[in-house]
Amino acid sequence: MQSVPTIGVLAIQGGVREHLHALELSGARGTLVKTRMQLDEVAALIIPGGESSTMDKLARTFGLMEPLREARAGGLPMFGSCAGMIMLADRISGAIADQESIGGLDITVERNAFGGQTHSFETGIVIKGIRDPEQEFEGVFIRAPWVITAGESTDVIAEISSGPHEGRIVGVRSDTLMATSFHPELTADPRVHELFVEMVRNS
Ligand code: GLN
Repeated sequence: MQSVPTIGVLAIQGGVREHLHALELSGARGTLVKTRMQLDEVAALIIPGGESSTMDKLARTFGLMEPLREARAGGLPMFGSCAGMIMLADRISGAIADQESIGGLDITVERNAFGGQTHSFETGIVIKGIRDPEQEFEGVFIRAPWVITAGESTDVIAEISSGPHEGRIVGVRSDTLMATSFHPELTADPRVHELFVEMVRNS
């Protein structure tokens, strides 16, 4: 039987509950992470969508930023959706003054990149590495970032395939880190979380 890893969801700001639910559908056990002690107990961490500048501020206020960076540097697998992607990016374009990230992914993200009429939208995307990859995944984008540049250690797993934003990078992964511009936790399709659980099992 496959192991059932315990995966934390960073619960200082943003859409936590939906990730917990998606983890339960994906062969993992989900738990809230609000403290350093809770962080020490999980096999991996999800950083949810929300508002990255607020998440950053609160993480620093609660003394969690350094532990998060240490955990990431120590190889703890992390998956960030939307604001979570920004939190895992080494470089942020459009950051507010003094905004910091956990970092780890050699990417530059543009915050709130899909401007104007496409602030929020849904579109089908092909994602590399998920189960039944030829079957499009419903990408839900809410004031989402996109990836401007991705370094060599970073694998691009999803791009917008049509429309005005065709070719924009919206999903990346490295050995232990994964990030999406969209919110897979807001769909009933567990394949992105399954991919992360598989990364955790292999780590
Ligand atoms: N625009 C938000 C930010 O910069 C991200 C939006 C989201 O997570 N849905 O943090």
